Amino acid sequence: MAEFLDTPIEYLKGVGPSRGDLLRTELDIHTFSDLLMHYPFRYVDRSHVYKIADVDPDFAFVQIRGRFFDLRMMGEKRSRRLTAKFTDGTDTIELVWFQGISWVQKLIQPNKDYIIFGKPSLFGKRLNMAHPEIISWDEFNKEQVQGLQPVYSTTEKLKNRHLDSRGIQKLIYTLVTDPDFQVKEIFPAKLMEVARLMGRKEALARVHFPGKEETGQKARFRIKFEEFFFTQLRMLLIKGQRNAALKGIPFEVVGKHFNDFYAHHLPFELTGAQKRVIKEIRSDMGSGKQMNRLLQGDVGSGKTMVAFMSMLIALDNGYQCALMAPTEILATQHHESISELAEGLGIKIALLTGSSNKGERKQIHALLESGELDILIGTHALIEDKVQFKCLGLVVIDEQHRFGVEQRARLWNKGQQVPHILVMTATPIPRTLAMTIYGDLDVSVIDEMPLGRKPIETALRFESGRLRVIGFMREEIKKGRQVYVVYPLIEESEKLDYQNLMDGYEHILQEFPRPDFEVSIVHGRMRADDKEAEMQRFKQGITQIMVATSVIEVGVNVPNASVMVIESAEKFGLSQLHQLRGRVGRGSEQSYCILLAGHKLSREARMRLEAMVATNNGFEIADLDLKLRGPGEIDGLRQSGLTSLKLADLSKDGEILHLSRHYCERLLEEDPSLQKPENLGLRHHLQKTYKGTDWSRIS
Ligand code: ADP
Ligand code: MG
Repeated sequence: MAEFLDTPIEYLKGVGPSRGDLLRTELDIHTFSDLLMHYPFRYVDRSHVYKIADVDPDFAFVQIRGRFFDLRMMGEKRSRRLTAKFTDGTDTIELVWFQGISWVQKLIQPNKDYIIFGKPSLFGKRLNMAHPEIISWDEFNKEQVQGLQPVYSTTEKLKNRHLDSRGIQKLIYTLVTDPDFQVKEIFPAKLMEVARLMGRKEALARVHFPGKEETGQKARFRIKFEEFFFTQLRMLLIKGQRNAALKGIPFEVVGKHFNDFYAHHLPFELTGAQKRVIKEIRSDMGSGKQMNRLLQGDVGSGKTMVAFMSMLIALDNGYQCALMAPTEILATQHHESISELAEGLGIKIALLTGSSNKGERKQIHALLESGELDILIGTHALIEDKVQFKCLGLVVIDEQHRFGVEQRARLWNKGQQVPHILVMTATPIPRTLAMTIYGDLDVSVIDEMPLGRKPIETALRFESGRLRVIGFMREEIKKGRQVYVVYPLIEESEKLDYQNLMDGYEHILQEFPRPDFEVSIVHGRMRADDKEAEMQRFKQGITQIMVATSVIEVGVNVPNASVMVIESAEKFGLSQLHQLRGRVGRGSEQSYCILLAGHKLSREARMRLEAMVATNNGFEIADLDLKLRGPGEIDGLRQSGLTSLKLADLSKDGEILHLSRHYCERLLEEDPSLQKPENLGLRHHLQKTYKGTDWSRIS
């Protein structure tokens, strides 16, 4: 059954075929419903009508009721303008138009009351207003634009067809005052009551014409709540379906490996956050459900330890583990640190990457299938490979961003039983964004740094300060420290970036000559084993400076490195800068991050760099990143229900999101597959909103 709101836009009074076409192409408005959801981006207060005698030229905007007189054309050609006087009996204000003159002339009638709206100013000694908005008193009353008036985004093409903000307002007014304007409530009555929501129909009308600020707030709250509610409902249903369809391997015991390690081999005291997160993972893997957990923790917060101890639990239950990293360098690094942690525990660990040769490969495959190999570490090639485990129980994935849902799903086919999955990300994601994008995953957060870390000092320097930066690097190296110098390389193939890197390398070689200094270089055009050899030289302290591209962005661990110099820092994104900075500050020494920037900085670039100087907190950085770039811009995260957020804003409306998640969880506890009659509205709306998703299990 076609509903009123599904009517094509051209059938609205005042639209017609040609404006209809324009609304479709310019604003993606196809139906009445689309128009209704073209929400105002702000309001102007039209509640007060001023007396001209009280108007001060300093006022931002005023509206006045009165009559026009003394219309005159002035000037010639380019200086042509229309002037008029306007009076309300208390005083007179002069008006002037430079454009749209004939339109204004036609519009204005003598002896009729009008409301004018605009910014007053002083011209000579007289009060003046240029290009006021004009509306007849009758219309002003009829349109109910007293109180808050909506302001809409529009385009030049639409403005030319009189669909400026006011024009759109008129259309929406026509729509919401149509006797056929019907909007069905989709929330169950109980939810409406406990969450104190305005009705759907009222909210959709009031968001445009709130009258009072308070009413507008209630309307916007309802709409934002609804938007968030459906993103959460979708995520929670997907999660529920997965739990119902997949049985997890119950890791019932915590045994020899875990206990032995905890009692005798722990290299340091765990932080409170690490302990809490390990507990969460342990109870999740023991629950009989399949774990799908996101582990968030700032760079250097100690995620590797958490991953390792989770693996020990899997081993204790007789299962194998896999750990996947996005790059070979990282995989190698993980292999080293995990092997170190596992020393003396009698665990068999292997590394499998693109550079493993046939023989190694064959041997690893054999050990995996026989079950002799406990932990396999590698790059994503791990899942493309013909690798067969005897009994894979846990997969740890480092760096979520490069590993999408589809890739995760392929892991499920690796064994008879579906392994538990732990996804680690060092890019803190604002909680609101995480809930919206990874809402189907459970989230653990390490929000505490290991004891004794000195906060990294960050400074912003310009080309003029380069010599001093070089001097500082020398001093630190004299103290026995090591230094990273990182160049932007947006695309590994970009010639110019590559040239900059090589020039920079040459320059460093000149400033830091042999035999006093040794310099390493690592970039994407090098062979994997050369890269690895250079990394090793730096790690072992043979070289003091590592010149690199953002290849080293993730995971590299050289505790003796205490200075990070980032060249052309303005070219990096905020989270990338933060990642890079996390490469230092891993030892007990005071560490430094120096951002070298060009002089001409965009406003945004300046904000990014200043934020880096101001805070070390990854979550604050992530929040700001979200505000600066908007959720749509965050690396490849466009999908996942973000587009259904029209009014709600992830960077501002966190509280409403949490509320909606809360109520959504409660509702699903009572009715996990939306079978109850009172939840029918929800079900229909969900199916309509997310057409691409398979809801077969709930319908
Ligand atoms: P990330 O979360 O960035 O992967 P890592 O796991 O690489 O961090 O840990 C960073 C460094 O901190 C490593 O050198 C690790 O050994 C050390 N570390 C981890 N947890 C602790 C702790 N509880 N106390 C002291 N040092 C720790
Ligand atoms: Mg790590």
